[in-house]
Amino acid sequence: MKKFNEFIWETHGIHAGTEQDHVKHGIDRLEDIVDKAIDANHPSITFIIHSPRLTSFRYIAERDTNVKFIRGNQSYLNYPKRIANLRKKYEGKINIKYGIELEWMGDDLGLQWSRSKIFQAEEADYVIGSVHFSPEGLPYDGSKEEAQELLKIRGSLEAYWDGYFNEMIQMIECFGDMIQIIGHIDLPKLNVEMPEALVNFETSSHPLANKFRTLLEIIADRNLSLDVNMAGKFKGVGVYPIQNILRRAYELQIPVCVGTDTHHVRYYGVNFKESLAYIHEAGYQNYVSYSKLIPEKRTIFDDHELKVKYTVLNKGIEMLNQRLHNKQRRIIPDFSFGGSFSEFLDIYKNSTGMGDYNAIRIRKSDKSITVTNETPQVSKDKVKGLFSEHLDKPGVISSLFNTLASEGINVETARLKSNNDGTAVAFLSLESDNGNVKNAIDFINGTDAGLFKNLTYKENAVLPNYYRKGVYLLEVDGVELKLALSQKVIITKHNNAPGVLLILLSALASKNVNIIDFRLGKLNKVGYSALAVEGNSNVINNLLTKLGEQYYEADLIEFHSR
Ligand SMILES: [Zn+2]
Ligand SMILES: [Zn+2]
Repeated sequence: MKKFNEFIWETHGIHAGTEQDHVKHGIDRLEDIVDKAIDANHPSITFIIHSPRLTSFRYIAERDTNVKFIRGNQSYLNYPKRIANLRKKYEGKINIKYGIELEWMGDDLGLQWSRSKIFQAEEADYVIGSVHFSPEGLPYDGSKEEAQELLKIRGSLEAYWDGYFNEMIQMIECFGDMIQIIGHIDLPKLNVEMPEALVNFETSSHPLANKFRTLLEIIADRNLSLDVNMAGKFKGVGVYPIQNILRRAYELQIPVCVGTDTHHVRYYGVNFKESLAYIHEAGYQNYVSYSKLIPEKRTIFDDHELKVKYTVLNKGIEMLNQRLHNKQRRIIPDFSFGGSFSEFLDIYKNSTGMGDYNAIRIRKSDKSITVTNETPQVSKDKVKGLFSEHLDKPGVISSLFNTLASEGINVETARLKSNNDGTAVAFLSLESDNGNVKNAIDFINGTDAGLFKNLTYKENAVLPNYYRKGVYLLEVDGVELKLALSQKVIITKHNNAPGVLLILLSALASKNVNIIDFRLGKLNKVGYSALAVEGNSNVINNLLTKLGEQYYEADLIEFHSR
């Protein structure tokens, strides 16, 4: 039996840093907790903040203070900024995530209110949808007295839970597009019993059991994930949710995330390992965490090799999702695995095999991404094309393409490699030799002599090794590219005609964006390019929107997962 990890990539993590609130809720200083995580050698830490509530939704303790505004707007509004500062302060030391726990307060004012709060937290990594309050204004996780009051209003234990699940379903209907995760799905057990019909919901014919089965199916169909929350264990009522629920979630292939929902620094790290053992008991071998709303897959096992493979998988998922619109991002993709990644075939139920092909392919709608961490072999075939040695700075490649385009020459494939000493080398294969290559070379040697050290057209040449170690983008939509990934990558799909690529290269050159690596591919009349670049993301995103109709797709991919 493999060992479980000591560390978890939390989602429902630590409620902390709301120092200015009238009623204290997670009061510790953020820095203290980050320091504690760093001392424990943890790669990441996750903060979470509640969205502010309407004053009609208050716990008794809050009513007693007679303060109108609870869990102040101010601390909520300032939170993204404080996290940004924290990320800056601890850069390189630890990865800091943060998310929002969105309150369900009914579909009237509560819904509009919550929608408005989401906009104020643009940089969040994820949003959990939670029901803490009944429409009657009474909390499910407040005092025993409040729970008893609600029980009296609703009349029976079954009606109590039925109301809670109705609110969950309504929340998903209304919030489905704003949240990624369903918070503590059996929260009411904190204060009231779970009726028999719910505990045995898998087989029970009680309407409550049916309601709950439906809720789980809705969660699966909406591609939401389930919060496995250790606060219940901490409070003595058992992990949210109970094993029966988790087992059904596993059967429905609902992803789970794990978290301690901790409110004090002294409890940081408590129950990390237990959470992994708990989901494993239900069948899970992995869970998800989130960066910028995109799910990352995590293994429950303390297995270095496996973690490396998950890193490759996550990079592929991030790339594919960033080629898609927000709405499509939440849809769980299809997977194919080959070679050393074949062990994922057991973990992902509906995945397909790719034999010895040592790669991961991730598909969604009409797009796919194929990645690997195996360095590609250098082909021994003889090639013909243009070899260049030049200065490694913005605009040089653009200038080369510019000259070739002016002679009517289309570049078929391109390889680039920085020597990391201010110089770079490139190889371009040309679509057809129209006899003008020599003119192009002469032109460049005449006008750009300072930029180019050597520019030669060779036939029967051996291709030098341009590959270095790293994670490789092998294919986009099945078209071979073999680009080594760096922090920022541009992927385009465009009309493969002379001059089209020049638009992109000129645009990048005009904004001083340097191209570190570059690959071209094509499928009939459609060209694909993948560029590893260095430059300001806002500037790049802005110019990518202006490339024109010849570009069917142009996306800047940035990697946040680790
Ligand atoms: Zn909660
Ligand atoms: Zn919470």
